Amino acid sequence: MGPELMERMRAQVARFGTEFQFATVTKVETGERPFRIHTDSGEIVQARTVIVATGSAPRMLGLPSERELTGKGVSTCATCDGFFYKGKPVVIVGGGDSAMEEAMYLAGLASKVTLVHRRDSFRASKIMQERVLANPKIEIKWDSAVVEILGIEKNDCGGVVIENLKTGARETISAPGIGLFVAIGHTPVTGFLDGAIETDEQGYIRVKDPTSETNVPGIFAAGDVMDPRYRQAITAAGSGCRAAIDAERFLQREGDGH
Ligand code: NAP
Repeated sequence: MGPELMERMRAQVARFGTEFQFATVTKVETGERPFRIHTDSGEIVQARTVIVATGSAPRMLGLPSERELTGKGVSTCATCDGFFYKGKPVVIVGGGDSAMEEAMYLAGLASKVTLVHRRDSFRASKIMQERVLANPKIEIKWDSAVVEILGIEKNDCGGVVIENLKTGARETISAPGIGLFVAIGHTPVTGFLDGAIETDEQGYIRVKDPTSETNVPGIFAAGDVMDPRYRQAITAAGSGCRAAIDAERFLQREGDGH
């Protein structure tokens, strides 16, 4: 399982002498080397190279119960959690490629997929839309929003209330073991950089393809924080490997390597 895998990875890197420090980074000073990394405990860590791998956070609907029910009927990742909804109905929110991809994936597992989108047309690419629209297991609720998640008192999602944003009509979809998948995009976690490293207009760190180099020599980026496209564990792990090699070569070039 994921937690055990993480624990084993932690033990493996510890064996090679990695030190861990748990803190939230509030600021990175990139003006001169060593870089200065400020943490919320007031400490400043100095480093000759930095690999930023802070990932991205799924956007949420903003409903009061969704955070509490995440992992208990509410999910932001069909490939991670879809299996738990085998043979059960699921509701997906979103109209982009992610929502289409999740709908197609879940249609292969769930008993029924209801796709809720706030407008009357999808943002997703044509081919993805066509696949979804042609799938008899997927029902679309246009111009609609999920306005309530049921079951908070039982600490398990028991269903959702959907509102038609044009007519105001409400409907409840409930069933034992129902799942709600929120697929309305991700936000890269780069706010703490405060412009110190170049990002695209969505906030993803720009790297010099095919390397992990950012616009600041000595600072590298890996994983979802620089990848708006694939966002899979295996692609993130691969980019982490590249960043480690890039950082090591940088240190050797600069004469700071071992
Ligand atoms: P996205 O393209 O930004 O789409 C987000 C969707 O969620 C939009 O339809 C948006 O509605 C809706 N939405 C946003 N906030 C909402 C809210 N508060 N309540 C209800 N709905 C909300 O995000 P994405 O689908 O994650 O895709 C991100 C990028 O990755 C895109 O460039 C996409 O093409 C790419 N991607 C590609 C693939 C692929 O090619 N296989 C797969 C996944 C993602 P509106 O349309 O009304 O704004």
